[in-house]
Amino acid sequence: MINVTKTFLPPQEEYNAILKRAWDKSWITNRGELVLELEDKLKNHLKTNALILTNNGTIPLQIALKIFANKGEVITTPFSYVATVSSIIWENCKPVFVDIHPEYFTIDETKIEAAITAKTTAILATHVFGNPCHVSVIENIAKKHGLKVIYDAAHCFGVSYKGESVFNYGNVSACSFHATKLFQTGEGGAIFCNDESYETLFYSHNFGHDGPLDFHGLGINGKMSELQAAMGLAVFPYIDHIIIERKKVVDYYKDTLASLPIQFLKIREGTTWNYSYFPVVFESEAILLKVLEQLNALEIYPRRYFYPSLNKLPYINTPEMPISESIASRILCLPVYLGLKNEDIDLMVNKIKQNVS
Ligand SMILES: *Cc1c(COP(=O)(O)O)cnc(C)c1O
Repeated sequence: MINVTKTFLPPQEEYNAILKRAWDKSWITNRGELVLELEDKLKNHLKTNALILTNNGTIPLQIALKIFANKGEVITTPFSYVATVSSIIWENCKPVFVDIHPEYFTIDETKIEAAITAKTTAILATHVFGNPCHVSVIENIAKKHGLKVIYDAAHCFGVSYKGESVFNYGNVSACSFHATKLFQTGEGGAIFCNDESYETLFYSHNFGHDGPLDFHGLGINGKMSELQAAMGLAVFPYIDHIIIERKKVVDYYKDTLASLPIQFLKIREGTTWNYSYFPVVFESEAILLKVLEQLNALEIYPRRYFYPSLNKLPYINTPEMPISESIASRILCLPVYLGLKNEDIDLMVNKIKQNVS
C-alpha cells in the first residue's frame, strides 16, 4: 500500500534514549527540558523569531484569532485544509473569502482590499503546500487598514523566502508537526511570532498562568508534552536528509510527467521550498476521478488536497470562488516521502499517462 505520505520515524532506540530523560526526571509535560531543548534547536536551525511549541497546529490559529481577530471579519483563503476556516468560525469570527491565484494557489493579494469592511480585523492566509503568499503586498494592505496578519504555515517547515524563514512574516505564523507533515512530533505544532506579541501568546497557551497562583489573563491549554518533544528531538537530526530525499522524489515526478497536459504548482520566486507536497492539476475532474480509481485499485492512495473549496463547506454560505473551486475539483497530491521508489513512481505515472493523453 502506498499512501500520500509515510511518517518518518527515527530509529526506535534513539527515541527511547531521549524518552529516558523524561523517565529519569519523572517529568512528562509543563515545558520540561525536552520541550525547551526542541524550541532552542528549532529556533536556531530555522533562524526564526520567537517560537512556542504547542500540542497541535490548530491551537496556534485559534489562539492567534482569539487575541488578534476579536470576533471580527477575517479575510481568508478558500484553498486550504479545513482547520484554517473552522478555526475562524470556532473563535466566533466571520470568514470572508478571497479567491486564489491560479498558479501559486495562495490567496490573490490583488483582491484583498475589495473585501475589507469596517468590521475586518485580520487576514488569515495559508502558505499552501509551503508556497509563500505574496507577503509584502499583504503586509502593506494590513498596515494601511490596521489589520493583523496571521499565516497558516502548517506546511512550511524549512521554507525560506527572500533569505528568511517564512515563519518570520506576519504577526503570527502557525506550523503543524502532525504525523503527516514534513517534521513530526505525532501531534504537535508551533506558534512563531515577534518579540512584541510573544508574552501574550505565551501566557495564552498555558491557561494564562503567571506562576502557580497568579494569572496574566485568559488562556487555554496549548502546551506540547515531553513525549511529543522527544519525538521531535529524535526526528530533528534527520530533517535535512528528509528534505533532500523528498526533493529527489519530486524531481523524478516532474521529469517523468513533463510535457503532459498537467499543471504543476508554481513556486513563488525567491523561495527555498521544502518539497512537502506534489500536487498535480488535471484538465478535468473526470480525469482526476479515473486516475484516482485506477490507482486505488493498485492500493495507491493519493489525496484530494484540498477538496472541497472551503467556501463549499456545509456550514458556510458564501459567494462562489471560481478559481479555488476549479482547482479544488481537479487537484491531486501524489505520494511523496523518503523511501518512495522510482519504480512505484513509474507505475503511477504510467496510469496518469494513459488517462491524460
Ligand atoms: C495540518 C494542517 C493544519 C492543522 O494542523 P494540526 O496539527 O493537524 O492541528 C492547519 N492548517 C493546514 C493548512 C494544515 O494542513
